Amino acid sequence: MSDACIFCRIVGGTIPATLVASNDHAVAFRDLHPQAPSHLLVIPRRHVASLAEATDAAELGALLLLAAEVARSEGLAETGYRVVANTGNDGGQTVHHLHLHVLGGRAMQWPPG
Ligand code: 5GP
Repeated sequence: MSDACIFCRIVGGTIPATLVASNDHAVAFRDLHPQAPSHLLVIPRRHVASLAEATDAAELGALLLLAAEVARSEGLAETGYRVVANTGNDGGQTVHHLHLHVLGGRAMQWPPG
């Protein structure tokens, strides 16, 4: 937990967010600047800077399972959706607390920019 980290503060409840679901390891909430009709972020409760620093397989499994759960609850399971983990500078990561983007509700393009 770091007071300097926006996502740690969302987990701690000192910054508001629209929470959607959670499990023992992870929390899901709506992105402040949605890039698709459904745009959720799924983050570990513990501070982990990025996927490159992740070491706990149970925690990563819980993140992926929660991503699939929120996609189902958003009604995206049938049409499909995208799960993205921007990692490091070239990956376009701007918040340095590991997060999965869950994007859906429109057709995605490939390759991403
Ligand atoms: P990244 O660029 O690191 O992959 O994604 C960070 C995401 O966090 C962005 O999509 C951005 O809109 C979102 N974000 C940044 N600050 C906040 C915040 O305070 N609350 C919420 N809900 N989302 C945030």
